[in-house]
Amino acid sequence: MIVAKAKDINEIADKLAGYGKILVAGCATCVAECMAGGEKETAITASALRMALKLRGNQAEVNEITAERQCEWELIEEIATQVNEAEIVVSLACGVGVACMSERFEPKPIIPGVNTVFLGHREKAGLWMERCAACGDCTVDRTGGICPVARCAKSLQNGPCGGSNDGKCEIDPDVDCAWHLIIERLKAMGKLENLKENTPPKNWATSRDGGPRKVVIEDVEE
Ligand code: SF4
Ligand code: SF4
Repeated sequence: MIVAKAKDINEIADKLAGYGKILVAGCATCVAECMAGGEKETAITASALRMALKLRGNQAEVNEITAERQCEWELIEEIATQVNEAEIVVSLACGVGVACMSERFEPKPIIPGVNTVFLGHREKAGLWMERCAACGDCTVDRTGGICPVARCAKSLQNGPCGGSNDGKCEIDPDVDCAWHLIIERLKAMGKLENLKENTPPKNWATSRDGGPRKVVIEDVEE
């Protein structure tokens, strides 16, 4: 899922000067799972904003609503009335949600209330970990399902580097060396021979460095 983190309330409040009718819009999918922008966080953010704005002498009306998803046109439509009534929207969705809302409701300002951080999963209560960098050419079959792009600090395709120490990465003794994990995983799978040949340089043309990417399924495209 997409993992996001709430922005500081004062950072958001700074951007709301001069607006009288504000809508805080949550998203009930990924950002709800990572406790950044679901229904509960939307209520908390709206309440914190009311207080922050009051302290600044701003009597703006702050309303709240949560869409099922802000990245689907049909589901955005379900909150259109509330968005249209607002002068500005603080979106607690990921960057995709902010982009879709901005496009649908142009020229209304839709500002982000969270920082979109990575693709990952919940490791345990209160802890989310990055697991994929969406490189566009998945090769984790070779590395036992552990992604060296997302989990190695140097995104090495052939590791470990000389800095790996006792299973930890040289960037931080609390961070597992991805290549140590890969080797242990392949050992357990009886697939260490996967590493006998060097992997050639990765083709980064499929990653996002060449600009925005798209996926087309021709049978379905309208
Ligand atoms: S190889 Fe690419 S697509 Fe596969 S998990 Fe890693 S970053 Fe994601
Ligand atoms: S120590 Fe391991 S995870 Fe860290 S940069 Fe080197 S190979 Fe990558």
